[in-house]
Amino acid sequence: MSSNPFSAPLDRRASVAVDVGGVIVGGGAPVVVQSMTNTDTADIDATVAQVAALHKAGSEIVRITVDRDESAAAVPHIRDRLARLGLNVPLVGDFHYIGHTLLKQHPACAEALAKYRINPGNVGFRDKKDKQFIEIVEQAIRWSKPVRIGVNWGSLDQALLTRLMDDNQKAGSPLSAQDVTREAIIQSALLSADLAEETGLERNRIILSAKVSQVQDLVSVYMELARRSDHALHLGLTEAGMGSKGIVASSAALAIVLQAGIGDTIRISLTPEPGGDRTREVIVAQELLQVMGFRQFVPVVAACPGCGRTTSTVFQQLARNIEDDLRANMPVWKEKYPGVEALKVAVMGCIVNGPGESKHADIGISLPGTGETPAAPVFIDGRKSTTLRGPRIAEEFQGLVADYIER
Ligand code: SF4
Repeated sequence: MSSNPFSAPLDRRASVAVDVGGVIVGGGAPVVVQSMTNTDTADIDATVAQVAALHKAGSEIVRITVDRDESAAAVPHIRDRLARLGLNVPLVGDFHYIGHTLLKQHPACAEALAKYRINPGNVGFRDKKDKQFIEIVEQAIRWSKPVRIGVNWGSLDQALLTRLMDDNQKAGSPLSAQDVTREAIIQSALLSADLAEETGLERNRIILSAKVSQVQDLVSVYMELARRSDHALHLGLTEAGMGSKGIVASSAALAIVLQAGIGDTIRISLTPEPGGDRTREVIVAQELLQVMGFRQFVPVVAACPGCGRTTSTVFQQLARNIEDDLRANMPVWKEKYPGVEALKVAVMGCIVNGPGESKHADIGISLPGTGETPAAPVFIDGRKSTTLRGPRIAEEFQGLVADYIER
């Protein structure tokens, strides 16, 4: 038994690195954040706007639906419009049913995409399945593109599932129906990867995913998939749901797998609230990787939850404003001040924990709580620097944070 009582993430699983339009997935590279649009890809304006928003929020790869001729024809225009905006974000084409036809008939689309997603459960049925799968792989070889073999339990290869169910029954049903389904998901990914390699696609052009909608299914499927293969893995809980339920389910599932060293790129699939912001899923993915200590994207803002000692919501609003400011300015600041993302800011509601927490931050403020002198001490680099007073404490502290970064 180890003498160290504290646990740490396991070493990252060794996986084959895949170059997705200049972004490296796997091979020990930092875990990549990706997302997906929900616009009609044929609507070029709307898709460019959403890809740009997702990329600016931090999505390093963006997937778009390619479901018909009009959307395939739009893809090169979307890529070019983004490039003119200075956004060279790798675009992944999400293909179902007719991907083989669209890629053949739209070579400009095949060239413009940085990766093709193939769903082996619906690329074709019966005798056409392998033929159409191979046709997509041949396009990937022709255009030197990687593919993601993306199995989804909602569109699982039914012939494979039926065969495994029959085999299990003949063997006296040692596995539950749930476990046979998990096995079918894993085999669908691995058999498809074998077929892609037999067709001539190199290993460093194959990423696998096996998405399910339940946390325990995801954990067991990815643990086993990781054990049986060294392909780069894309993690994501599909149909995670809306609001806090979707965030909690995705975070719980992915955190367990990431802690085991498994996963090379993640997508958090959240159902947006009506009129909600699609970039939420990117921020959640970044926050998950950041709180787990795998990557640093934006400075941490430590804020207390508030309690009966706080007289107003000033400190909550201040914490929110600071966080929003930092996130908005980060692209510029990161270029000017390398390492700025490691900054720690504290915004605390009273003197109980305020000064202590503020001293541990690079810059922190302790706002006055109930019955305290209406003054807010500011700590910089662990030492009290100044005390703010009056109605403009929040604005002045925001100015001090900006000054600190500029210095
Ligand atoms: Fe309450 Fe003060 Fe603790 Fe914040 S720091 S939770 S205001 S006691």
